[in-house]
Amino acid sequence: LMNDSEVTPFSVPGYACQRRCTLENHNAVLTDALSLLAENAELSDEDGRGVAFRRAAAVLKALPSAVTNMSQLTGLPCLGGHSLRVIKDILENGTSSEVESTKESERFKALKVLTGIFGVGSKTADRWIREGIHNLQQLRDSGQTLNRAQQAGLEHYDDIKQPVSLAEAEAIRGIVGRAVASVSPEAQIVLTGGFRRGKLTGHDVDFLITHPEEGSEVGLMPKLVSWLESRVSCHLQNVLLICDVIFLLMFALFCRFSLCCFIDKQTRRWRAVRVDLVVSPISQFAFALLGWTGSKLFERELRRWAGHEKGMSLSSHALYDNKQGRYIRASSEEEIFAHLGLEFIPPNERNA
Ligand code: ATP
Ligand code: MN
Ligand code: MN
Repeated sequence: LMNDSEVTPFSVPGYACQRRCTLENHNAVLTDALSLLAENAELSDEDGRGVAFRRAAAVLKALPSAVTNMSQLTGLPCLGGHSLRVIKDILENGTSSEVESTKESERFKALKVLTGIFGVGSKTADRWIREGIHNLQQLRDSGQTLNRAQQAGLEHYDDIKQPVSLAEAEAIRGIVGRAVASVSPEAQIVLTGGFRRGKLTGHDVDFLITHPEEGSEVGLMPKLVSWLESRVSCHLQNVLLICDVIFLLMFALFCRFSLCCFIDKQTRRWRAVRVDLVVSPISQFAFALLGWTGSKLFERELRRWAGHEKGMSLSSHALYDNKQGRYIRASSEEEIFAHLGLEFIPPNERNA
């Protein structure tokens, strides 16, 4: 055992967008615990606390080896008193009583199950819980009015909860890619989200679509969606069949749809998969690509960096210089990082 004087403290920069973070995590026990507390806070509408736990987890994810001693954490950013108590508990006792009791709490379990239904957020889940609904059966029996997204979410609950594999994501890319090519031959489609960061599974599949000619992307989404909706098409010699694509949710935003399709996993079983489709004009493509690649915390930290350190506003559409009062153009992610005065971090190192 090392004594404190022999321990070299870790050191990491203050913003997650300054750190390279692959999927290799030497502190998974600690980060799982902090992520669970973050999730509980978010489900309880305490976003500030949620972000604090997520930032703390991201710092631990970026460390080059496992934390064994509290003194190694001296001087690290984003580790508040609450997170440090949880870490100390786990290092000393193997578990954190707060994490364990949260995991076991009826309210947390009910919030997780109910918000696991596509189209149900924490406010709706909270209202249902106050009405005594804690699980899917109670929801079905309650006669609650569900919107179309929630009905589909409930119907396909088990499928949607099941992680999507990279192979499935690539198969869906084939289907959507064919659909895109047939409604707009020049249009391009990119896999974004977790899969672009090198993850092997995801809770959905995220696609970004653009057209090399500015303006030609207008109207692409409705055309694409009706093509998918109407078409029953054979793909890969009948192995993969896309059938009856249903809308789960149409965001009010004109440029984004989240839908669900059934694919055959060569087991003759159909399953529902969440697919996020986003169309971007080519002039905004780099911002959309950066914004939809994630991770969510990495994105949040990029915006915080832009605002607090550079006086700029970053979104998945644009970068605005608040002092100069003008938009800054960029045609690649590399250019955006450069405008922000940040070292370029490739997608597989954005797993904050
Ligand atoms: P998973 O593999 O579990 O799907 P993920 O990293 O792909 O993880 P998503 O929830 O699919 O997570 O989000 C992917 C990216 O899209 C994230 O960077 C997120 O910030 C961004 N994103 C998600 N929803 C929106 C939205 N409504 N508006 C803008 N960006 C969004
Ligand atoms: Mn995703
Ligand atoms: Mn998504």
